[in-house]
Amino acid sequence: MIDALGRRIDYMRLSLTDRCNLRCKYCMPQPVPDIPHPEILRYEEFLRICRCAVELGITKFKLTGGEPLARRGAAEFAARLKALPGVEQVTITTNGLLLRQALPGLVEAGIDGINLSLDTIDPARYAAITGRDQLAEAMAAAEAAAASGVPTKLNAVLLGETAPGLPDLVAWADSLPRPVDVRLIELMPLGCAAGHAGPTQEEALALLRARWPDLRPAPAGERRGNGPASYFLSDTLQGRVGFIAANTHTFCQSCNRVRVTSTGGLKPCLCYAETVDLRALLRAGAGDGQLLEAMERAIFQKPAAHCFSQPERMTEHARMNEIGG
Ligand code: SAM
Ligand code: SF4
Repeated sequence: MIDALGRRIDYMRLSLTDRCNLRCKYCMPQPVPDIPHPEILRYEEFLRICRCAVELGITKFKLTGGEPLARRGAAEFAARLKALPGVEQVTITTNGLLLRQALPGLVEAGIDGINLSLDTIDPARYAAITGRDQLAEAMAAAEAAAASGVPTKLNAVLLGETAPGLPDLVAWADSLPRPVDVRLIELMPLGCAAGHAGPTQEEALALLRARWPDLRPAPAGERRGNGPASYFLSDTLQGRVGFIAANTHTFCQSCNRVRVTSTGGLKPCLCYAETVDLRALLRAGAGDGQLLEAMERAIFQKPAAHCFSQPERMTEHARMNEIGG
């Protein structure tokens, strides 16, 4: 659907769970109480929301969390979602630790893309960032995903301590059986990262140009996903390097997405706490008409822009694993 500012909203991120098997320092560094199971949406409830979303013109869905593969039945859910009339694309973002065992099910479900979050290929740094000594599994998962033929990308949050290793990460991604794009994400000052800043796109680009001096913007027409990444290419790299630079290259004017939290909150923008409680509506027996109306109203009024540069205006203070990154 088209919102009040003329933006086409066709993409929904579904947070299947707040739980995670990692403790990334910018996301959920400490053990936190899990949201009780009855408060989490059942898969049937997610599917009803998705059916309404399709009626509103939302046709692309991303499974996220928390760690989506930490929820039992995630691959079966992906298959049911893919089978809904009007759904064009179902993709997943994962830390990869449970991916190798889930991969056959995801492939069978017809998953359209896998984003694997991996900030570094330095084992000590990986363990320091994620709280777990599991780099080998994450790297093996990336290799398996790339080899499976499912379009795969790596996502890395830009952090001061990992910046010197970025060229190694990109070179490794490019050496996989099927080279994969690496997208570098500026740290957003949300949740546990509130008040923190990481390297910018320009700083990361300068580091990468020390190894690939010809890195330059890819042709404008080249589309490589649903997101706001801007891509760069080099003659000696098969994959692309993308940047998702919410702080220094704001892309709110072309934002195409909304989120549904694991507890059924429809969230038009990451920066603000305002959500529509779809779970309450669902569980109160609302009909499709009521659901559609509530969703349409919230999406139509999607805020114009985030306010990361004015933290005092931010009303969202939850952790990323709760919001659904
Ligand atoms: N566990 C899955 C994963 O790591 O891909 C899905 C959920 S995670 C919250 C989704 C993405 O959000 C990951 O790529 C993660 O690195 C990113 N992320 C988390 N906190 C962030 C922050 N403060 N700024 C930018 N990206 C963040
Ligand atoms: Fe877990 Fe993803 Fe958050 Fe890391 S970024 S703690 S993997 S939800």
